[in-house]
Amino acid sequence: MDELRIRGLRVFAHHGVYPEETRLGQTFVVNATLFLSTRRGGLADKLEDTVSYGEVCRFLTDFLQENTWKLLEAAAEHTCRALLLRYPLLRGVELELEKPSAPIPLPFDAVSVRITRRWHRAFLGLGSNLGDKKAWLDGAIAGLRQNPDIRVKAVSTYLTTKPYGGVEQADFLNAVAEVETLLPPEELLEALHRLEQAAGRERLIHWGPRTLDLDILFYDDLVQDDADLTIPHPDLQNRRFVLQPMTEIAPHFVHPVLGKTMRQLLDDLPEEG
Ligand code: ADP
Ligand code: MG
Repeated sequence: MDELRIRGLRVFAHHGVYPEETRLGQTFVVNATLFLSTRRGGLADKLEDTVSYGEVCRFLTDFLQENTWKLLEAAAEHTCRALLLRYPLLRGVELELEKPSAPIPLPFDAVSVRITRRWHRAFLGLGSNLGDKKAWLDGAIAGLRQNPDIRVKAVSTYLTTKPYGGVEQADFLNAVAEVETLLPPEELLEALHRLEQAAGRERLIHWGPRTLDLDILFYDDLVQDDADLTIPHPDLQNRRFVLQPMTEIAPHFVHPVLGKTMRQLLDDLPEEG
């Protein structure tokens, strides 16, 4: 990924734990690396096809002056997010905030916090088998779109499927959505749980009826197996109601563990009995 870099931007602002710091203010130094493709701007030689570093410097200055945080960590976190939401061409930002005049009674050059934040690509599984199923799925997509940290890129067609897991119940309506998100996996899962709860979902029987089930199928090419979160979603390679809509919106996406595309995994499924 190409980089646009800003070094040593000085901003007089009021962040700090001590009251004197928020009252008097001090100079902060910003180093930023913006990750984006400069190809279009480079070929067209037009400012509107890239991100203007002048504008970004102005934005950084205003943002750090209009807000007050105790911690450099908080200032860096909020500033990265604001940049990524403000400039759609940005894929990621590395931001270092230095505090050369930090209140430390010892000789030192500067203290700083440096973080990298970026948009991640995730695929979500949606399912409902109670009440107005289409309305639950539509509502979930609308709820995702309302979250500024999530951008819905594609939604598959809704697919009616027989229940899975041997519990006697109504047919499911299933879909998958491709999103970009600034949220790490655990926070994305929390956002999905909130949408499930808003849909009045009760967890009564495992694999039983539910108004809304939202799962993280993939998150970049992450492989993780924690107590509350397994990615890729386990067993998806055996579920036609996942592979069929995945093949519709991302046929060439490769399962990071199995090393096969969605289309290959769908073709590998045994015929329905
Ligand atoms: P299922 O989706 O398997 O039918 P639930 O929706 O009731 O079952 O999920 C139960 C728990 O599964 C969630 O509370 C969550 O902690 C855990 N879980 C593990 N991995 C994932 C994932 N990739 N996506 C969603 N939930 C997951
Ligand atoms: Mg679930």
